[in-house]
Amino acid sequence: MTSHSGHGFGEIEIPMEKRALNHHTLFSIVIPLFNEEEVLDALFERLTALVARLPVRAEVILVNDGSRDRTLEIATRRVLADPVFRLVDLSRNFGHQMAVSAALSLVRGQVVAILDADLQDPPELLLPMLERWSAGIDVVYGQRRQRKGETPFKKLSASIFYRILTHLSSTDIPRDTGDFRVMDRKVVDALVKMPEHRRFLRGMIAWLGFRQEAFLYDREPRAAGETKYPLRKMIRFSLDGIFSFSMKPLRWMAILGFWMTLFGFLWVLFWVVTRLLFPEIFLPGIATTLATIGLLFGINFFFLGILGEYIGLIFLNVQGRPHFIIREVICAAAEEASPPDGNTHELL
Ligand code: UDP
Ligand code: MG
Repeated sequence: MTSHSGHGFGEIEIPMEKRALNHHTLFSIVIPLFNEEEVLDALFERLTALVARLPVRAEVILVNDGSRDRTLEIATRRVLADPVFRLVDLSRNFGHQMAVSAALSLVRGQVVAILDADLQDPPELLLPMLERWSAGIDVVYGQRRQRKGETPFKKLSASIFYRILTHLSSTDIPRDTGDFRVMDRKVVDALVKMPEHRRFLRGMIAWLGFRQEAFLYDREPRAAGETKYPLRKMIRFSLDGIFSFSMKPLRWMAILGFWMTLFGFLWVLFWVVTRLLFPEIFLPGIATTLATIGLLFGINFFFLGILGEYIGLIFLNVQGRPHFIIREVICAAAEEASPPDGNTHELL
C-alpha cells in the first residue's frame, strides 16, 4: 500500500507501521462551534452513538468560538453530563481556524480528527478514516465527491479559488477538501508549533508533508442553522490562503511594473518624435492622457493593496499576540489544569 505522497522507493515499497485500534488508543475529535444552537442536539446524539461504536477510547473537544446564541449554555449542560466531552470557551470570536487551533493545542489522543459542527461531514466516516490511519497513513483528509445543498455560486467560487491557489502556490494543496480529516499525533504536534497568525490549516497541513491520503465522500447539506461563512469571511479566508502560501503576486508586480515602465517610455518617445517630425498629426489628446493616468493609478493602487496584504501579515506575526484566549475549559471531571496561554507554538 502506498500513499499519495509517494514514499515508494523505486519499485520497492517501504512497509508502513501498523497502528493499533483498541482501548489503549485515545482518539480526539475536535469541533468548533459558532452560533450552532440549532444543530447541537443532533450533533451530540450522533457523536454519542459514534463514540459507543468506536473500537478506541474517545474524547471530544468542542470549542465555543464566542457564540452569541445559546450554544454555550446548551453545550455546557451536555458536557457536564458526559465525561467524553470537554468544552473550551474562548474569550470572544476568534474565527473558525483559530477555534480549531485552540482545540488542537489541548488534544491528548494519539490520533485526532477535525469535524464541523453542522454534520455536513458525516461523523460515522471517522471510523473508516481511522482504519486508514491504523494502516499507517498520517493524514486522511476528506475530499468531496459532491456538495449537496450548496449554492452554484459557492461551488463556482470554491472551484475558481482552488484553481488560483494551486496555480500560485508551490505547496500542493488538495482540491475540494475542507478541514474534515484524521491526523496522527506527530502531525498535530508539528502543526501546533507553526507560529503564523493567519492560519489556513488545510494548507499548513499539506505543507507539513507526512503520508497523506484522500478519503472520498459525499458532503451532506447542513443539518440545521445557516452557514457561518458569509461572503465577506469567505473572501478573507481565500485571501489568507493565497497570501500566506504564495509570493507570486509580489513577483508579478515587479514584472508588470517593468513592462509598463518600458511601454511608458516608448509612448513618450513616440509622441516626442511625432511632434518633431510630423507636427500636423500631433494631437493634444486630453482624453487619452486622462485614460492613461486613470489606468496607471488603478494599477498602482492595486499593487499597493497587494503590498499591504504582505505587510499586514508581517505586522501580525511581528506583534506575536496569542492566537486565541481561553476563558474557561468546562468538563465533567475536575481534572482540568490551567488552560494554555494561547500561543500554540509555545505549548510544546
Ligand atoms: N465556525 C467557527 N467560528 C466562526 C465561523 C464558523 O467556529 O467564526 C465553525 C462553525 O460553527 C462550524 C465550522 O466552523 O462548525 C464551519 O462553518 P460552516 O459550516 O458555517 O461553514 P461552511 O460549511 O458553510 O463553509
Ligand atoms: Mg458547514
